[in-house]
Amino acid sequence: MKKLISVVVSCYNESEVLPIFYKEIDEVSKKMRYVEFEFLFVDDGSKDKTLSIIKDLSKSDSRVKYISFSRNFGKEAAMNAGLTYAKGDYVALMDADMQDPPKYLIDMYNFLQEDYDVVATRRVTRKGEPKIRSIFSRVWYKLIDKMSDTEMVDGARDFRMMKRAVVDAILSLNEYNRYSKGIFSFVGFKTKWISYENVKRAAGKTKWSFFGLCKYAIDGITSFSTTPLLLASFFGILFCFLALIAIIFVIIRTLIYGDPVGGWPSLVCIILLVSGVQLLCIGIIGRYLSKVYLETKKRPLYIVRETNQK
Ligand code: UDP
Ligand code: MG
Repeated sequence: MKKLISVVVSCYNESEVLPIFYKEIDEVSKKMRYVEFEFLFVDDGSKDKTLSIIKDLSKSDSRVKYISFSRNFGKEAAMNAGLTYAKGDYVALMDADMQDPPKYLIDMYNFLQEDYDVVATRRVTRKGEPKIRSIFSRVWYKLIDKMSDTEMVDGARDFRMMKRAVVDAILSLNEYNRYSKGIFSFVGFKTKWISYENVKRAAGKTKWSFFGLCKYAIDGITSFSTTPLLLASFFGILFCFLALIAIIFVIIRTLIYGDPVGGWPSLVCIILLVSGVQLLCIGIIGRYLSKVYLETKKRPLYIVRETNQK
C-alpha cells in the first residue's frame, strides 16, 4: 500500500496564486509517484474567487479536497481545520503564495523515512521584506525565545511535514488561543530543520499589516510565557524598595534641615512614573485575563460552511 500525504493549504483571497500553486504541486506529485496525495485547501472565508477555483480543480482532480469556512477565522484556525480533516499518514502545512516552495516536499518526505518525525523549515534571510519588519521580527524572536520555556526558532515558518503521531499530538492540545509556532515546539518530537532563502510571494498581497503583526507578537508571548507577569511583580518589588529608601532619605533630611515641603516637580515626576508602571502591569495582567476569558467560552475555532472531505 502506498502511503498518503495530505497537503494542507490555507487560502485567504489567493485566487491570483492558486493556479500557479496547483500547477507546481501537481508537478511535484508526479515526481513522487511512490506516494499518494490529497490536496486539502482550506478556504478561510475568502471574498474573491478562491473557492470557485478550488471547486473547479476538485472536479478535474479527485485528489483536491476543500473545506470552506463561514467567514475569515485566521490562518491558525485554517491550519487547525486542515490538520483535523487530513487523513494522510503524513501531513504537510503550506501557504498558497509559493513562499513555501513545493519542491521541498520531496526532501521532507525523504527525511521522514529516516529517523525524523517532523521536517520543519526556517528562512535564513528576509530578503524582499521591509527592513523595519525584519528588525522587529529578529528582536522579537530573541525576546520570546528567552522568555518562554519552549524553544522559538528565529525565522521558523509554518511550512512543515509531520508524521501522523505528531499531528495527533498537536490536535490533542485543545486551547482556543492557538499560537502554532509555540504549539509545534511544545509537542517536540525529532525535528529536522531545512533552511532556505526567503522567497517572494508569487502574486497577490500579504495579509499582514504592521499592526496585525504586533498583535500576533504579543499573543505569541502571552500564549507561551508567563514571564511578563513575573516582570510585573519585579517592578512592584523594585518600586517598594525605592520608596523605602526615599522615605528614609526624607525623614533624615527633615530631622537635619527641618521643612519637608518643597521639591514638588520631583514629586510629580515620581507619581507619573509609578502610575505609568502600574498601568503597564495592569495591562499585562489584562492580556492574560482576556486569554482566560476567551478560553472559558469554549467557542469553536472555526465554522465550516461546506466541504467535500468526508
Ligand atoms: N491566510 C489565511 N487566513 C488569513 C490570512 C492568511 O488562511 O486570515 C493564509 C494565506 O492565504 C497564505 C498564508 O496564510 O496562504 C500566509 O499568508 P501571507 O502570505 O499573507 O503571510 P506572509 O507570508 O506575508 O507572512
Ligand atoms: Mg506569504
